[in-house]
Amino acid sequence: MTDISTLQLAGDLLQRLFPICRSITGDGVRETLEVLRRQAVFEVYEVPSGTACFDWTVPDEWNIREAFIADANGNRLVDFRASNIHVMNYSIPVDAELSFEELAPHLHTLPDLPDAIPYRTTYYNRNWGFCLTQNQFDALDRCGRYHVRIDSDLKPGSLTFGEAFLEGTSGQEFLFSTYCCHPSLANDNLSGVVLWTLLLKQLSQRKTRHSYRFIIIPETIGALAYLSRNQELARKLAGGLVITTVAGPGRFGYKTTFQGNHLLDRLVRLTFKELGLEYIEYPFDVNGSDERQFSSPGFRIPVGTICKDKYYEYLYYHTSLDNLDFVRPENLVQTLQLYLLTIDKLEQNRTYRSLNPHGEPMLGKRGLYPKTGGSIKQRAADPTGQHDARSYQVSADHIIYGNELDAIRWLLFLSDGNTSLLEVAEKTSFPMQQLHDVACKLVEGGLLDVVF
Ligand code: ZN
Repeated sequence: MTDISTLQLAGDLLQRLFPICRSITGDGVRETLEVLRRQAVFEVYEVPSGTACFDWTVPDEWNIREAFIADANGNRLVDFRASNIHVMNYSIPVDAELSFEELAPHLHTLPDLPDAIPYRTTYYNRNWGFCLTQNQFDALDRCGRYHVRIDSDLKPGSLTFGEAFLEGTSGQEFLFSTYCCHPSLANDNLSGVVLWTLLLKQLSQRKTRHSYRFIIIPETIGALAYLSRNQELARKLAGGLVITTVAGPGRFGYKTTFQGNHLLDRLVRLTFKELGLEYIEYPFDVNGSDERQFSSPGFRIPVGTICKDKYYEYLYYHTSLDNLDFVRPENLVQTLQLYLLTIDKLEQNRTYRSLNPHGEPMLGKRGLYPKTGGSIKQRAADPTGQHDARSYQVSADHIIYGNELDAIRWLLFLSDGNTSLLEVAEKTSFPMQQLHDVACKLVEGGLLDVVF
């Protein structure tokens, strides 16, 4: 069931954070993290400009107050106040009178999407520019003169990131990462920022078996800064998920880890399968988000991504049309459920050993023979059998349980001390939650023992 307060909070955070002008450094990131820290507990760190991060260096810090292109009468034709992506992110300050010919090389449009403002950055090349719709561009007087002003700073400061560590007992640690460097763009990646926060908030309230490390960083340089400061820790990470593009109207997707059949890949596939939910599987690719850094040869952390309307794939990607009309808090919460259901499986994935391996044990004398033999829990909704990603409610209620006696028999049969619960689920198609519940009963009844 979707908890109303989570949905409300997702919507509130999207609204509150959307207008902030974020970048890879600067006060927009700090303000964003401060808002998130009212919802979930994490620490904030600053890495000074000039700090070496492997082959890269933390750049000067960028902040912007205003920017516009005005005509000779002072009318603002393009204004940062209307949309912060009108300014190429990391533009150096400028204040000049220019002809159209002088201005044009600094203007960026999308001719194929004439109502959209493109999102452009110039982090490592000192330059300035404006992004505008093709329609705005076409309306500019070719003979006019323009007042161009960008009131920005680019000077030594620091890069800001956030981190939380939730300690479990297993000694195994997994990473949840997201990036907070995009300005007013909703699916990529404000949705990821909000989901990261809600996931951290929920997991913080649980006692978990595994440890979970949450980081919120500017993309690429933030991942490099984090990894360079935490090399030993990073190499011990058993795997992770980069949370990005999770609230669009399109289909659910999963970008696999570079291994393709890592524990996390198998758990995510099982989550979709148990829900009967269609999704697109994207094989690992060297393009993408921070898995490019986490999975590089020096770290080789297997990292995947569960998404809804994956980056690169939707028309409005990196444009002003990726806005609050494009995403839905309901979509975000559905994707959150997929992350939580996958974590549930990760937590439940123990390996058991039968304590009565010689033939079948007598269940009745232990009170373990199911009283309601033969009943099968039917899928709760969607009588058409079609699972439209836009309307489908992701919920554990949609998972079909099998016959309990069969689940007991299979679990006892396969519990040889080497077969994980995930493997039992994959081999038998019993839902992991049911196998977990049955395993707990059998442990209590003295028929199974936990190996690890
Ligand atoms: Zn992006």
